[in-house]
Amino acid sequence: MIFLQDLLSNPAIETISITAIIDTALCVGAGGSSGTLADKPIVRTADKKLLIPASQLKGRLRHECEKLARGLSWPICQSPNAQTMCPQRAYLPENEARDFEREEYRVPGDERYHCLICQMFGNPALQSRIIVDDLICTEDPENLPEVLRPGVTINRRRGTAEEKKLYFLETSPANVKLRFKGEIHLQPSFPPYAKALILAGLHHINALGGSKSTGLGWLQWEFKRWAVDEEAWQALLHGGGK
Ligand SMILES: [Zn+2]
Repeated sequence: MIFLQDLLSNPAIETISITAIIDTALCVGAGGSSGTLADKPIVRTADKKLLIPASQLKGRLRHECEKLARGLSWPICQSPNAQTMCPQRAYLPENEARDFEREEYRVPGDERYHCLICQMFGNPALQSRIIVDDLICTEDPENLPEVLRPGVTINRRRGTAEEKKLYFLETSPANVKLRFKGEIHLQPSFPPYAKALILAGLHHINALGGSKSTGLGWLQWEFKRWAVDEEAWQALLHGGGK
C-alpha cells in the first residue's frame, strides 16, 4: 500500500507553498452539509476552518495548463471525459492523432502515448505526478461570522425570477482578505516543463468557487518562487521535447 506521508517525506519531492488571498467573498459549496441555514453551504475542515477543496484547485489548474499548452501548440487530449483523454483519445482526426506519437509522450513501462498534460495531472490509465492539498483558511473560524446571501433562480425562457425559488448561499465574509494556504507537491521524475507550466497556470486562476460572474471568489496568489531553470522554459516552448 502507498501512504501519502511516505510519498511526501521523499526528499526528491519538490514542494511549493501557495496562498490564495481572497479579495471578495468566497463561495465554495458542498452539497448536503449540515449545521448551517444555507442551501449551498461553504466547505469546512473537521475543526470548522473554511477550505478550498484540492479537487477544485487541481481541476482549475489542469484546465489553465491545458489552455496554455494548446496556446503553445502542444497536442493535448480532451479532458475530463475518459474516452477522449489519453491513452484512448477517441474521435480524433487521423492527422491530429499522429501528433501524439512522439517518443517524449511515452512513459516508462507503457507502450501507449500520454500527452504532456496527462503526464503531469494523470488520466484513468496514468497516475498523477502532482499532489495538490486543500487550501485551508488561516483565520480562526470563531472570528468569522456566517454570511448568507440570498439568491433567486431565474427562469431563462421568461427572463424573470421564479416564484418560491429563493435560496441562500453561504460565503466567506467580504473584503477581509482571507488567506487560504496549502501546498503543491511534485513527485520525483516529474517532467522538466512541469514547474514552469504550473507557475504560469496559477497566474491564470483569478477566481475560485461558485458565482464568479456575480463577483465572488476573486483572488490573488502569493507563493515563493520555484526556481525554474532555463532548460524547463525551453522545454515548455518546444512541447516538452529536447
Ligand atoms: Zn492527455
